[in-house]
Amino acid sequence: MSDFDVIIIGGGIAGASLACFLSPHAKILILEAEAHVACHSTGRSAAFFSESYGGPVVQPLTIASKDFLFSPPSGFADAPLVRPRGALHIARYDQQDVATNMFNAYAKLSPNLHRIDKAAVDQLAPMLKPEWAISGIFDPDCNDIDVDILHQGYLRQARQHGAKLLTNAPVRGLLREGAHWQVATAQGQFSSAVVVNAAGAWGDRVGALAGLPAIGLTPMQRTIIVFSPSGYPVSPNAPLILDVGETFYFKPDGANIWASPSDETPVLAGDVQPDEITIAIAADRIENATRYHIPSISRRWAGLRTFAPDRAPVFGFDSRAQGFFWCVGQGGFGIQTSAAAAMLCAAQIAGHLIPDTLTQSGVSAARYAIQRFLRT
Ligand SMILES: Cc1cc2nc3c(=O)[nH]c(=O)nc-3n(C[C@H](O)[C@H](O)[C@H](O)COP(=O)(O)OP(=O)(O)OC[C@H]3O[C@@H](n4cnc5c(N)ncnc54)[C@H](O)[C@@H]3O)c2cc1C
Repeated sequence: MSDFDVIIIGGGIAGASLACFLSPHAKILILEAEAHVACHSTGRSAAFFSESYGGPVVQPLTIASKDFLFSPPSGFADAPLVRPRGALHIARYDQQDVATNMFNAYAKLSPNLHRIDKAAVDQLAPMLKPEWAISGIFDPDCNDIDVDILHQGYLRQARQHGAKLLTNAPVRGLLREGAHWQVATAQGQFSSAVVVNAAGAWGDRVGALAGLPAIGLTPMQRTIIVFSPSGYPVSPNAPLILDVGETFYFKPDGANIWASPSDETPVLAGDVQPDEITIAIAADRIENATRYHIPSISRRWAGLRTFAPDRAPVFGFDSRAQGFFWCVGQGGFGIQTSAAAAMLCAAQIAGHLIPDTLTQSGVSAARYAIQRFLRT
């Protein structure tokens, strides 16, 4: 007899959302290494939902999360989880092929996505310099996500169904004994039939505790700067603007702008901090593309977007270690895909059929299974 049916390692959005959907069917313990659950990637995101972000393999999970994020069940949260933003992907003359390929890849599943001409780009994004205002792809369904409310909502629902959360509890050992995992933490030992690895950037390290070879998960550092520009007024309702070449994006937050140079620097898992060169590159790219001047940077942070070698998330049981379930590799889209990813993982762990809402959006368990890395 074990203490729990399922122990989830990691209390970020991946672990919290899974606990929310699985807790009606299983006795759950979430173990979080830090004192607070949103210390790492989940507390450091750019907080947007965009169907046209993350690549076509991610798009079905984003689409399948939309109903939950846009219309959560009553009682889930006291305030809306999302707020309309719109996303405008911009392309210079020399990037028109990139824009066409991007549009063709995403438009099949996201019919509201449409190409817009120079006049429409000018109207939506008057702060752009002329060389960036040639044509665009507009995604009217892009929304800002209130990540804190979403994360807390998942945890509250899980607790209401009896799930326990233990913080300051880094998992240091995993041992399979008979039908159970013995999970050693800084706060004692717990047992469960199933262990879920939702440890984000630490995913391969947690796999190693169970004796599993690394998938090759790579934490990539990404930087955000916040500034109040001079030179051109900030419209709080302006869309998120992304360069199709993926060298920058920015969006308003009240009178401020959040911007990223879309950096992807492979690093070791840890409490990453932004470096001065990347901050300077971010400011330079925004000043080159817009009429904004950046007199000073009021806030800056960096976080980790962790990718599997094929940049698709990894969800599923590992055939090499009974009762070990991977829920990792959410890259730069773990917030916007959290609801569908959690429903998919919860169904597999509980032994249920994948919900129709997921399959209708094109989500298949096989696409994200760990088995794709085990074939010779
Ligand atoms: C700058 C930036 C911008 C982003 N923008 C967006 C966006 O706009 N939209 C979007 O959808 N996504 C975005 N993302 C990606 C998103 O933040 C991540 O995909 C998501 O937060 C990953 O969640 P997670 O729970 O897997 O990881 P984390 O939040 O990192 O949680 C993993 C947890 O596991 C814990 N842990 C690790 N090892 C152990 C152990 N041994 N024992 C116990 N606990 C352990 C860690 O302490 C951590 O709290 C962005 C990310 C960054 C960095």
